[in-house]
Amino acid sequence: MTNPASFEHGPDILPHRPARRSRSASRGLLSIVIPCHNEEEVIESTHRRLVAALPSTGMDFEILYIDDGSRDGTLARLEAIAAGDPRATIIELSRNFGQQSAMSAGLARARGDAVVIIDADLQDPPEVIPEMVERWRSGADVAYGRRRSRDGETWFKLVTASCFHRFFASLVPYPIPVDTGDFKLLDRAVVDAVCGLPEKRRYLRSLVAWTGFRQEPVWYDRHARPAGETKYSTRKLIRLAIDAVMLSSDTPLRAAWWAAGLLATAGVGCTLLACLLPTREGALVSAIAAVVTLAGAIQTAAVAIVGEYVVRTYREVQGRPSWVVKRTIEGDTAAGAGHSDRHGSRAA
Ligand code: UDP
Ligand code: MG
Repeated sequence: MTNPASFEHGPDILPHRPARRSRSASRGLLSIVIPCHNEEEVIESTHRRLVAALPSTGMDFEILYIDDGSRDGTLARLEAIAAGDPRATIIELSRNFGQQSAMSAGLARARGDAVVIIDADLQDPPEVIPEMVERWRSGADVAYGRRRSRDGETWFKLVTASCFHRFFASLVPYPIPVDTGDFKLLDRAVVDAVCGLPEKRRYLRSLVAWTGFRQEPVWYDRHARPAGETKYSTRKLIRLAIDAVMLSSDTPLRAAWWAAGLLATAGVGCTLLACLLPTREGALVSAIAAVVTLAGAIQTAAVAIVGEYVVRTYREVQGRPSWVVKRTIEGDTAAGAGHSDRHGSRAA
């Protein structure tokens, strides 16, 4: 018998839920999670495009709109949508908590065997979702939208986003795809693992990658916004980027080791100069420089050591589990032999 995925933290092991049905054997339920903040111009077309595109997935579906403290007519329009379509659900947050929180609220409420996260503004075409479902059916746990092109963005945003994605991937100690946003399909096991993480400040892109499940790209062309404006000013984008790095990587705290190493090397160089220089003045200057740089190296190393303790304290405070179990295969007592049903074993 196979048991579903679970994540474990020391002695605490989540109770296993019953094994879920196969990805391909039945229709299954697909949840669509849409964070919305001041999207009144576009939200009705988004709903129309979604309900036109989703039937070809062959799955039943629910669409969860998370109204993230909109101040325009978004909520009223969503209410009208929900009044005419039982597949639509609105989750109204009490104020604007930000896109990351809105997406997390949607994931926590989604009931699907697979969950797609998509922006409300039609930059990510809903018509790509059936291809994501196909990828999921053929075994991917995460089918993420990878941008072949991005219309309607300034060259400044294209260059900075591309550099940041690569820089971020180099800092994070697990594989994280580049040129992707939040448009992706997650298997139920991934959703459960991500929702089960106890930390409050969340950067979903890296949390999904952290769970370590199988990720596959679905290439698509990202369009310009048909209406409305981006909700991210440059300042907000910088804050998000800093959050992303601080939440996902220890490297900034450990950077002091590099500074200590450089100062120590300079200190040793100055000491050698002080010993080798023929003139008294030159030797004196080098000796002073050696004392200053070596003292600096010792101080910086002390900061780096404190950083190491802070890293460990931070990790403990985050409270992430030490590992994630993808599935458990147990001997089948009836058949007298162990077996594994990959698709049927994923629910946590
Ligand atoms: N969004 C949100 N809360 C916010 C900001 C944005 O829920 O505080 C939603 C927004 O309505 C959209 C998605 O997050 O559905 C992405 O936002 P946006 O299109 O402004 O970002 P961009 O595509 O310009 O990076
Ligand atoms: Mg957008």
